[in-house]
Amino acid sequence: MAIQTVRLFGDPVLSTAASAVVDFDKELRTLVQDLTETMLNAPGAGLAAPQIGVGLRVFVWDVDEELGHLINPVLDLSDDKQEGDEGCLSFPGLLYNTSRALRVVAKGFNMFGDPVQIEGSELLARAIQHETDHLDGILFIDRLDTALRKEAMKAIREAEWFNENGPIIRVSPHAGLY
Ligand code: ZN
Repeated sequence: MAIQTVRLFGDPVLSTAASAVVDFDKELRTLVQDLTETMLNAPGAGLAAPQIGVGLRVFVWDVDEELGHLINPVLDLSDDKQEGDEGCLSFPGLLYNTSRALRVVAKGFNMFGDPVQIEGSELLARAIQHETDHLDGILFIDRLDTALRKEAMKAIREAEWFNENGPIIRVSPHAGLY
């Protein structure tokens, strides 16, 4: 298992739709472990594979002290909505009110290829919708109303982590050691 670098807004991998998982193999189980470890280290309530640079339809969550993962999700959303602050590990320090469905039924697979169905409301429903959006290259700022999105873009441009010219490549501290 290894903690991976979380990609930040501006990295093209975050706006690219991910591919369905076909092989439920050892590499997939390592990916789920890496995602889980990276999320717990951040810490965050969820993490999707594109956020660590892997274009596969896989995400993990840590909500109400329950860890979970889902592969190739298909969502059924309630008409009832919830409002609440939402953030993203790819946008450090930014939180905005984001409207989401209150409940979700998510169908997909676990890392062994068994079909699973996850039912969630409130925070879990929010996490599942946020992470599934990542798999479609959609970011939470895309879900904000126009005025709030404008405010978010201004805050992003002013954020010390944001680089207009593309992602900041962090060099490993060991790279200078010969
Ligand atoms: Zn996110």
